[in-house]
Amino acid sequence: MRHEIIRIRHEAKRRTLSVQQVERLSPAMIRIVFGGKELADFASAAFDDHVKLFFPNGEEAIKRDYTPRAFDRKAERLTIDFALHEAGPATDWAAAATAGDTIDIGGPRMSTIVPEDYDWWILVGDEASLPAIARRLEEMPHGAPVTALVAVCGSEEEQCLATDAALDLVWVHRPLDRANEPDAMIAALASIEPRDGDGFVWIAGESTFARAIRAEFIERRGHPHPWIKARGYWKKGAPGAHEKLDD
Ligand SMILES: Cc1cc2nc3c(=O)[nH]c(=O)nc-3n(C[C@H](O)[C@H](O)[C@H](O)COP(=O)(O)OP(=O)(O)OC[C@H]3O[C@@H](n4cnc5c(N)ncnc54)[C@H](O)[C@@H]3O)c2cc1C
Repeated sequence: MRHEIIRIRHEAKRRTLSVQQVERLSPAMIRIVFGGKELADFASAAFDDHVKLFFPNGEEAIKRDYTPRAFDRKAERLTIDFALHEAGPATDWAAAATAGDTIDIGGPRMSTIVPEDYDWWILVGDEASLPAIARRLEEMPHGAPVTALVAVCGSEEEQCLATDAALDLVWVHRPLDRANEPDAMIAALASIEPRDGDGFVWIAGESTFARAIRAEFIERRGHPHPWIKARGYWKKGAPGAHEKLDD
């Protein structure tokens, strides 16, 4: 069947990992490479999988979701990119992390695999979903037409994204305290010409932003609902928020 989404359930497992390497990719993006024997049976089948990071906090740990940006099974190394912001348990932990620190992670519990049989892709995101977008681009087939639009604070936050796909990459600049406002992204989208054929649109970022971009595709561009996946990866003013926006 064309465009059939496949879901893979993984064994729920909690792992303790240690920080092997910390690298600052840009002023507000830190890459942390984790290692540990417990990664031997780790699996992440989809670019928008997430693991839960557990931050000790008395009886019940605080949990935050992060994308497995890369996984090297042979070396048992898991890479996560952290977008830094003003404050929060995850951003504070990442900003202070050094080699040897440990953290518990859970998941991924599920991978949702979007098939490769679309004619084209559009990926829309912000700093928090840039790791998933970067991973998607790395994994795309040679020559696949893809447009990625990513909102960041300025040119210092732009990354070199490796891909074999036919990539049209647009960086949209806006201050982080306006990450919930979709206007700059909607203006950038206006210059993206509709393509022929079936396209998959993936949207993730601040919740209000992601919801507005999804509405733009459905209401203004008439894009079919089933060919859109939209997620609120965080919500301005709401710690630890994660919203599914496909209803
Ligand atoms: C499926 C999924 C995958 C994700 N993958 C990644 C990833 O790979 N890398 C990544 O950096 N983030 C990722 N996120 C987003 C990340 O989980 C949130 O940003 C999370 O809230 C950060 O936790 P915190 O403890 O730093 O801040 P919180 O305690 O959650 O929030 C504190 C305050 O900071 C604000 N805030 C939270 N996140 C941001 C942000 N990104 N920018 C600006 N302000 C923010 C909140 O609105 C709140 O007011 C992902 C989220 C989901 C749902």
